[in-house]
Order: sequence, then C-alpha cells, then structure tokens
Amino acid sequence: MHEVSKVYPNGTEALKALDLTIYPGEHVVILGHNGSGKSTLFRCLTGFENITSGFLEIDGKNPSQLKKRKERSAFRRNIGLVFQHYHLTQNLSVLQNVLFGALGRQSFRKVCAPIASLALRNEAMEALERVGMESVAGNGADELSGGQKQRVAIARMIMQRPRMIMADEPIASLDPKAGKEIMDLLVSICKENQLTFISILHQTDIALQYGERIIGLNQGEVQLDKPVPFIQRSE
Ligand code: ADP
Ligand code: ADP
Repeated sequence: MHEVSKVYPNGTEALKALDLTIYPGEHVVILGHNGSGKSTLFRCLTGFENITSGFLEIDGKNPSQLKKRKERSAFRRNIGLVFQHYHLTQNLSVLQNVLFGALGRQSFRKVCAPIASLALRNEAMEALERVGMESVAGNGADELSGGQKQRVAIARMIMQRPRMIMADEPIASLDPKAGKEIMDLLVSICKENQLTFISILHQTDIALQYGERIIGLNQGEVQLDKPVPFIQRSE
C-alpha cells in the first residue's frame, strides 16, 4: 500500500495515507481500538471495498481493477477469509459446509451434487481431520459451539487452497481457551503451508503471543509497525 486513503461517502476518513508492505510468509497482526480503521483496512485488502486514493497491490494485482468476474474470483480464491461470526450455512451439514470451500476451483454443480465426488469428499474429510472435527461431519452446522464452528470454517478455507489467510477478529466471540486453540490452529496451518497470515485483533496479549509483526492503527494511521521482539510493554 502506498498512500492509501479511504473516505466514506459521509466524509469519514477511515484510512489516512497508509504506507504498508507485507511480505510473503509474514505473520502480521493489525491491532487497534474500535473505530481505528481495522475493518476498513481488511475490506480494502480483501477487495470488498475500493480505496479512495493511493496505490494498493496484493499478490501483483490491484483488486479494484479486476473487472471480469473470473479475475475477481481467482483473486479471492487466493485469500482464505476467517470471520468473527464464522459465516457457516446453518441448515447444511458440517461436511457440506466444508465442501463449499472448493467453490472457485470446482464447479457449483460438482460441489453441490447430492453425492459429491468421492475425491472431493475425501479431501473435505481430511480438512475436517486437520481441524479435529471429523467426528461431527454429518452433524448440522447449527449444532456446534462457537469454537467448533470456527474450526469448520477453517476446514472450509483449507479446501480453497489459499495462498494467504486474512482473519477479521477470528476469536472475538470465543472464550479465552477456545480462542487460543483457534489461533494455534491458524498459525500452524500457515507455517505448514508457508501462507502469509494477516489477522485483525483487538487483544494486545494475543497479538504479542501469535504475531511476528504488529501494525498498530490509530484513527486511520499507522501508529506502530514493529517485529514483536522489539515491542516494549508500554507501546
Ligand atoms: P474498526 O474496525 O477499527 O473498529 P472501522 O474500519 O470499522 O474501524 O471504522 C473506521 C472509521 O470509519 C470509524 O470512524 C467508523 O465510524 C467509520 N466507518 C466505518 N464504516 C463506515 C461506513 N460504511 N460509512 C461511514 N463511515 C464508516
Ligand atoms: P463483524 O466484524 O461485524 O462481526 P464479520 O466478522 O462477520 O463481522 O465480517 C467482517 C466483515 O466482512 C464485515 O464488514 C462483513 O460485512 C464483511 N463480510 C462478511 N462476509 C462477507 C461476504 N461474504 N462478502 C463480502 N463481505 C463480507
């Protein structure tokens, strides 16, 4: 990002001339209070929101310049998204939710066939094993606890085979124990697959524990950008 600004139609300047470079394989935590611009930054990085001015490139592409549907879906497929509220489809089974992760590299018809291909099912079961949820593959997604739902959402993301993971408050709705388990899982999946990891968090202790580099936002500006070992407690 070079001098990236985001001004909403009502005049709110949510991002102010941000300069940021995040390198492949980095584990970055974006930290900040409510209203500091974290979600805005997240939506610009994932291509859900256009920037107002400046220069933004992700993996060699400017998301706002991807006009064709195919280009946009190829761009999005590379980014595994994790949300605070999981975004599972409630009236489908756990396995069906995970199969949805293959959309974008498999046709809708294949993913949603009454009996998905054996290869795809096996792959989805492996993803569920990776997150420790294989025993509930046949359960309804609405029968799970928050931590279990986030695990299923992560299995769905594994099916996507992304190059980077972007997480917006992935543990904000979980108790501390479940939250740490989810952070452990995300970080180890990123390490195993050499994925870039960008996570928005608001808990300083978790950020210091799991991030390798912290970017602190304040009122739309970068107030801090340091590798974790060089951060003083007072910052
Ligand atoms: P955070 O995620 O850190 O809480 P946000 O990115 O949601 O911060 O918000 C940054 C600023 O932009 C806040 O002042 C917020 O009120 C404003 N904002 C966020 N979304 C919109 C929007 N759609 N329209 C107008 N202002 C917005
Ligand atoms: P919140 O942080 O408000 O609890 P989520 O973590 O569920 O919400 O979602 C994070 C952000 O991503 C929200 O601004 C939401 O509007 C956006 N978002 C979630 N799912 C999608 C989607 N499928 N397409 C586009 N934007 C999405």
